[in-house]
Amino acid sequence: MSDLSDPGKSRRFVLSAGGLMLAAAAVGVAGTADAKMPQKGVQYVAKSPKPNMNCGNCASFLAPAACKIVDGVIAPAAYCMVWSPAPKK
Ligand code: SF4
Repeated sequence: MSDLSDPGKSRRFVLSAGGLMLAAAAVGVAGTADAKMPQKGVQYVAKSPKPNMNCGNCASFLAPAACKIVDGVIAPAAYCMVWSPAPKK
């Protein structure tokens, strides 16, 4: 898994995640309304390796087991590289 404590790696991570978000946006414009990214393309893992970063607290999570932007069944304890924090309730 990525070590984001290194500024160079962190920058590359942000740039690659940004690229994926742009790709997702392009799919949204050009594709069907329900086109989503494949789990493999966003390095989805069933158990998050990062404390306090998982699908259950991601802005894109759709309870009980789906995601707005990633295809397939999504576990609340999972994680992928386009995770973003859900707004505070
Ligand atoms: S981390 Fe967020 S974007 Fe990634 S699969 Fe989970 S809910 Fe979707």
